Amino acid sequence: MKVQVDPIRCHAHGICAELLPERISLDDWGYPIVDQAPLDPELEAHAKRAAAACPTLALMLRAGQPPRSRRRIVPTPRTSSSNSS
Ligand code: SF4
Repeated sequence: MKVQVDPIRCHAHGICAELLPERISLDDWGYPIVDQAPLDPELEAHAKRAAAACPTLALMLRAGQPPRSRRRIVPTPRTSSSNSS
């Protein structure tokens, strides 16, 4: 799970940084600077509380994507139909 902010909706109230200081700090104008790293399980409850407290619903929680599996590239054998000798 990750924390994201919709910059259009955010009105720099700063509540999110008070409720989730481990991942959100404020810039000089009071807008949040969000650490995009996935949340540790023990921080998820705090993140949900911060998202629920945001007065403009600008703070969102996104489910993290599982790591992409590595695709193996297998070369295909060449078939040559132009073997005219
Ligand atoms: S609480 Fe919401 S509106 Fe206020 S700074 Fe955080 S994201 Fe923006």
